Amino acid sequence: MKITYFGVRGSIPTPGKELVKYGGNTSCMLVETDSAGDFIFDAGTGIRECGNYLMTKGSPVDTKLFISHTHWDHIQGFPFFVPSYIPGNKLKVFGPPSDVQKLTIKDIMAMQTNYEYFPVRVSQLGADIDYTDTAEGIIIEEDKFKISACKLNHPVNCFAYKIECDGKTFVYGGDHEAYRNIYRGDESCDFDEEFLLELDANADSQNQKIADFLTGADLVSWDAQYTEEEYLAKVGWGHSSYESDIKLAKSAKLKRMIFSHHDPISHDDVLTEREDKYKKIGLENDIEIVFSKEGMIVELN
Ligand SMILES: [Zn+2]
Ligand SMILES: [Zn+2]
Repeated sequence: MKITYFGVRGSIPTPGKELVKYGGNTSCMLVETDSAGDFIFDAGTGIRECGNYLMTKGSPVDTKLFISHTHWDHIQGFPFFVPSYIPGNKLKVFGPPSDVQKLTIKDIMAMQTNYEYFPVRVSQLGADIDYTDTAEGIIIEEDKFKISACKLNHPVNCFAYKIECDGKTFVYGGDHEAYRNIYRGDESCDFDEEFLLELDANADSQNQKIADFLTGADLVSWDAQYTEEEYLAKVGWGHSSYESDIKLAKSAKLKRMIFSHHDPISHDDVLTEREDKYKKIGLENDIEIVFSKEGMIVELN
């Protein structure tokens, strides 16, 4: 299993001379397998280069795209995914529907190419494209591979995807904030201790469910946008801190975790310093931590 990062930035693309080491394209990665073809995770601006790469492998392009959620930074590259324009290519798109507006993933992907935003409608794309709404549980199970999804904690419907293929297991996490009891420590709240303990237990069990989903994975790629200090000023925005990720990795008994979805304000010097720091903390906990970089390739053999 070969994993290539085409976009590692969270929230917004970040061109700039201080952002070249880690890269400025938003979330997209490609998993190439020996026995079951190629799988793309998220369609941030990195998917443009991912599409160009797939076309160098030969035609027709026949691939699957799994969208964690439909915030801009995870879908905005889709209209620039050139293989979708070419007749004969095949693309299966999986992604979460909107529970609030009762929209399917197909509706949402079409909306971003409305007349007001983009010159080409998705309905005009030449490839054979079909769309499936993601729901929690097993998404596809065939002889050679299995894909399953686990719901995450984010302001919109969001999933982590697990791929099991070629004897290896890899998890791609979308945006996620560890569950917490938001009333614990809130002095304006007059809940009694018994109820607060119940809410603590509820958050713990939600976090445990995610840890259970990750347990056994050879590698997990996860949202790592903030330090704990930065996070405390951004509670409820739906992102993780490095510290909460290490806690999750320990709880899931992981040996390797890749920190990704870097904050747009984190320049190369900041991320380099943080990578050194959290690599060491990881090693103290017997976990290999790597910060994702655009173009980075990881082989699972
Ligand atoms: Zn994001
Ligand atoms: Zn998001």
